[in-house]
Amino acid sequence: MKNFFLVAFTLYFALPAFAGQPDWCKKLPRPAYAKLVKVPIADNWFEVYKIRSGVFAIYEPHQFEEVISYLILGSDRALLFDTGMGIGNIKAVVAGLTDLPVIVLNSHTHNDHVGDNWRFDNIYAMDTDFTRDSARGSKADAQAELAPGSICGALPAGFDAKDYSTKPFHVSRWLHDGDAIALGGRTLKVIAAPGHTPDAIALLDEKNGLLFTGDSFYLGPIYLYRPETDLDAYVASMKKLAALTPHLQLLLPSHNTPVADPSYLEKVVTAIQQMQRGQIKPVAHDGNVEYEFGDFSFLMSQGARWQNGKQ
Ligand SMILES: [Zn+2]
Repeated sequence: MKNFFLVAFTLYFALPAFAGQPDWCKKLPRPAYAKLVKVPIADNWFEVYKIRSGVFAIYEPHQFEEVISYLILGSDRALLFDTGMGIGNIKAVVAGLTDLPVIVLNSHTHNDHVGDNWRFDNIYAMDTDFTRDSARGSKADAQAELAPGSICGALPAGFDAKDYSTKPFHVSRWLHDGDAIALGGRTLKVIAAPGHTPDAIALLDEKNGLLFTGDSFYLGPIYLYRPETDLDAYVASMKKLAALTPHLQLLLPSHNTPVADPSYLEKVVTAIQQMQRGQIKPVAHDGNVEYEFGDFSFLMSQGARWQNGKQ
């Protein structure tokens, strides 16, 4: 009898939590992935796609941020552009893809991009106070990533949700705008793109026409509502990135889909100008407002103000 109540209780209260997949999860896989080359790996949390020769996207489709880190190979060294959520072990995935020594560099230091930094001993970072603060680690932002509806499928075996936090990490080299990182046969140029955060960067592989855009641009809602976001800095950064368009073949963003046409950079600048002129009516979105432009949008706080516009 006791068991009957236990089973009835479990069915009634516990099952609904698993039965309904979150809406974002039902829409996966995103259509763009059908055209990409998937690399088989022995890990269920990550998916790896070969985007170009020596360029791998390491995607986390089981958490709503759908964050993407990139492994970029040279002949002497590899650079890991972001380390993801820190929910799965990205270092083990990287070890399965290359034997080269690995430098870690972050597109910016929000928790969903630095989660596994602590596992690495060679970390380059932008020389900003925001970065130094992020490197101390934190728990609140990490915990928020596990809120109901955030996970699609199973968390990795052994993952401890209660203790999940962004662990502190040690920076071995401080970088500045324009610095070049030579990997052997491939050079990556650091382009400061403050706005989303003060330490946001884009990474340019000029020879191959690749621009890794971080969170400054991706297809989907671009987050511009956090207190560390500076809208005017963001506009200036997007204009700077858009000016690179003639040299680019491909954008490699840090969320949702790992490939986008370079023409989007100009579209973002145009979209911002329309917003600044008050031509776009925002829609309410979870306490923020969203300005929609087809396959990308901007999520901003209610009281957001542009210095140079009427918004
Ligand atoms: Zn971010």
